[in-house]
Amino acid sequence: MRFASLGSGSRGNATLVEQGDTCLLVDCGFSMKETEARLARLATSAAAIDAVLITHEHGDHINGVGALARKYSLPVWATGGTFAADRLGEGIEKKRICSHSVFAIGDIEVQPFPVPHDAREPSQFVFSNGDKRLGLLTDVGSRTPHLEEQLSACDALILECNHDKAMLDNGEYPLSLKRRVGGDHGHLSNVQAADILGRLDTSKLTQLVAAHLSEKHNTPALAQAALAEVMGCSSDWVAVADQQRGLGWRDV
Ligand SMILES: [Zn+2]
Ligand SMILES: [Zn+2]
Repeated sequence: MRFASLGSGSRGNATLVEQGDTCLLVDCGFSMKETEARLARLATSAAAIDAVLITHEHGDHINGVGALARKYSLPVWATGGTFAADRLGEGIEKKRICSHSVFAIGDIEVQPFPVPHDAREPSQFVFSNGDKRLGLLTDVGSRTPHLEEQLSACDALILECNHDKAMLDNGEYPLSLKRRVGGDHGHLSNVQAADILGRLDTSKLTQLVAAHLSEKHNTPALAQAALAEVMGCSSDWVAVADQQRGLGWRDV
């Protein structure tokens, strides 16, 4: 199994997960032109994608999905709540998932789990090929025992490190937005992400990626340092899915 990021952050998210002949696109917050260019950068194309899976209906995750799914006839998988937000338009094959029930798309098994975030029915996922497990956790405001259980014993983990709390508190956002981002249904700070990581079984972890970093209220070095401290590793070992550059293919 392998994965890559087309880009990650509040200006757009998209992740590829590939196993055997199956390639999933998880979220797509980029325009068609941007998406096609970013796929080409990863030496692939939309024609190679089998399905799109959506975490939730916020624009940075869903803005590009409708047009891409129509152009390439891709089925879109999401919870009923995400579909009910009605952000995709017509002419799309919709596959409704239950956020507690495992399902398979081709060669990839997907275990969804609900997370506290200010969307209708947000889910994050663990992907498995029957041997290795890749966990994805972004857009979550606070930890839950359930998400920690799901993400334990993964071989690879993509983990939100949205903001440094001091940078957010001292930043230019209006107070209401600071409260939303930093709230229990907002986004994880570096400290919160490190706290979650420290509660997981990380004995199998060979890949760790910090994701959904705020460009205004975080730096890659701060996020990497926070996660590296928990792992007892050097900061360089923690990868970052960059907003502009994404992250190249990584084998799990
Ligand atoms: Zn987001
Ligand atoms: Zn969101």
